[in-house]
Amino acid sequence: MDYGLMYDKIQNELQTTNTTLVAVSKTKPNEAIMNLYAQGQRIFGENRVQELVEKCEALPKDIEWHLIGHLQTNKVKYIAPFVQMIHSVDSLKLLKEINKQAAKNERTIDCLLQMHIADEMTKFGMNESEVIDLLNSTEFKNMQNIRIAGVMGMATFTDDKSQVRNEFRQLTSIFNQLKRDFFADDVAFREISMGMSGDYQIAVEEGSTMVRIGSLLFGTRT
Ligand SMILES: *Cc1c(COP(=O)(O)O)cnc(C)c1O
Repeated sequence: MDYGLMYDKIQNELQTTNTTLVAVSKTKPNEAIMNLYAQGQRIFGENRVQELVEKCEALPKDIEWHLIGHLQTNKVKYIAPFVQMIHSVDSLKLLKEINKQAAKNERTIDCLLQMHIADEMTKFGMNESEVIDLLNSTEFKNMQNIRIAGVMGMATFTDDKSQVRNEFRQLTSIFNQLKRDFFADDVAFREISMGMSGDYQIAVEEGSTMVRIGSLLFGTRT
């Protein structure tokens, strides 16, 4: 398969809806990233801190790195100097640490609130009452070095397309509710990160502004 052609095809599809592509390069070598870079891609997503740090050091400085996987509090310090967006914020404790490490680096880090929408116990994310508690907390209100840019979620891994669609719809509805109740005047709160290789078209139909695509662009992971 020619992944270069696949990249063009996906970018063309996404352009009509102004959807941002995060190319998920986890486990893939730097050469694979540079192939897409040569075609113009600048936003790449990784799910492991160490791999992200190594790739950032080795690759061009105008790449925007997104952390998309679960993040342990004690590892925030390694990515705080350069990470552009963290998609996987699932607790106040983690957000506090991101804010602290961002301040140390004199930066503001964009964060997405990861919501649990899947019908699976294994996937990370907050429920609606947890996210509301977080946003109402005094600690959150005092944070100066993070910017909440929206929400993120992963649908259940299933062939049932209507279930996937319902879960994405649920995430869009949570986004709208949070926008209304907490971020009405905040233009930074605008992203709905949802959709992967197997379900990104449904996600876009349901309001995704940012899709995270790996295997369709780079081949399946071994
Ligand atoms: C791996 C991963 C993706 C991309 O998955 P593909 O099915 O390869 O497109 C997207 N989001 C997260 C959080 C991931 O860990």
